[in-house]
Amino acid sequence: MIPPNKLYAQIDDDILHEECGVFGILGEKDAAAITALGLYALQHRGQESAGIVSYDTKVFHAEKHMGLVGDHYTNPKTLARLPGLMAIGHVRYATTGETALRNVQPLFAELEVGGIAIAHNGNFTNGLTLRRQLISAGSICQSTSDSEVILHLIARSRYRSSSDRFVDAIRQVEGGYAMLALTRTKLIAARDPTGIRPLVMGNLNGKPIFCSETCALDIIGAQYTRDVENGEIIICEIQKDNSITITEIKPEIKKPERLCLFEYVYFARPDSIVGKRSVYTVRKNMGIHLATESPCQGDVVVPVPDGGTPAAIGYAQKSGIPFESGIIRNHYVGRTFIEPTQQIRAFGVKLKHSANRAVIAGKHVILVDDSIVRGTTSIKIVRMLREAGAKKVHLRVASPMIFYPDFYGIDTPQMDKLLANQYPDLEAMCKYIGADSLSFLSIDGLYYAVNGTPRNNIQPQFTDHYFTGHYPTRLIDQENTFNSDQSSVLKTHR
Ligand code: AMP
Repeated sequence: MIPPNKLYAQIDDDILHEECGVFGILGEKDAAAITALGLYALQHRGQESAGIVSYDTKVFHAEKHMGLVGDHYTNPKTLARLPGLMAIGHVRYATTGETALRNVQPLFAELEVGGIAIAHNGNFTNGLTLRRQLISAGSICQSTSDSEVILHLIARSRYRSSSDRFVDAIRQVEGGYAMLALTRTKLIAARDPTGIRPLVMGNLNGKPIFCSETCALDIIGAQYTRDVENGEIIICEIQKDNSITITEIKPEIKKPERLCLFEYVYFARPDSIVGKRSVYTVRKNMGIHLATESPCQGDVVVPVPDGGTPAAIGYAQKSGIPFESGIIRNHYVGRTFIEPTQQIRAFGVKLKHSANRAVIAGKHVILVDDSIVRGTTSIKIVRMLREAGAKKVHLRVASPMIFYPDFYGIDTPQMDKLLANQYPDLEAMCKYIGADSLSFLSIDGLYYAVNGTPRNNIQPQFTDHYFTGHYPTRLIDQENTFNSDQSSVLKTHR
């Protein structure tokens, strides 16, 4: 475990830290339209920008836009500009750094082996270190995305074929990634050796698809084939007769998989199957375990929608206290986190949620949310419920306290902004939030909810560093201190 003072709270701010979703398909007509639909289902993984690259046997075509998938890719003219039987796409929410169009993925480069596009969900823990090395060796970086290092590593590789070069490049990066690449004949998928980020393989009419979550298969009626294994690279190649060959490259020494627990807590869509588990069922289990660990006298169980809803259903079922929709969510505003500053974020919560007085007034409310990060949501919601006449507000959180930042593609702020570090004492935190009582699910309770077993403290079954400080990989960039004055970020305003 890394002691908190060894972790650099200050992340070099010229590198983007991103939450994303990826989708790719090979050999099917309307590949770009299918990709757009897949991205539509993955929209919860990133709402800031969306991009698609297709290849039509002659040229690569790219469409990249800031905003939502539906804002751009429902337009037939946009899709008509993306011809071909193969495409990859990406949705992204950058958590730090600038938000210029040049960072919108898929990133594309014209190399000695032909064009290549990449789409990446996750973060490299040695991305900045590699980037500095590449820049000092003469590479010219076009974006501030750590994903770009992959293109440079492919360009510099001594191997001949594009797929060998991709494999060579991917072996040099560390961290969390679900990565897709599109070359003139291939769709390549790679998942990090620890399996932190999810990636599944499916098929539509026998044509291979890769995507972050199964909900992107459901939207197009595709079949789930299997999960891409941790450390695995799958190369799908389209032949002249349009048949497809599939090559699976497994790691020589396979590490135990440690999927990110936050996919279950917050990130994935509840109808997805992640790591062969229904996200909805896991979230409901979290509520059941929370009710067992932290029972409470109350009149109604109210979720903070949408994230807290399955856990609140579980809590209500286990406790026998009625579930009520005491907070109504406005679905036409984006996620709270989209707002760039703390002040605006505070407005965002008001925009997003409103109290349903009819079920709140005069009641002892058991309020259930999936997680507390900065505490912004909790403070606002508790105040809102009191203003709506709640007699008592007991906050129950369906995950443990978050003490440590993430470096693998989940949006957590720097350590000092995490509420648990400001108020490690539960009573003090409860007072600050303004609730009548507060409790969090224990780490073992969370493991039980996900896996039916407690945490194996010697070899944890999942990645849980935000709760425990046990990081599943080295943190090379954090160990190397960088001077941020070495960075010069071009701001592109549109
Ligand atoms: P906060 O207001 O900072 O405490 O954030 C907690 C709320 O944001 C919860 O209601 C979660 O549903 C949601 N949340 C948790 N993690 C994330 C994340 N990585 N990105 C966006 N929203 C999140």
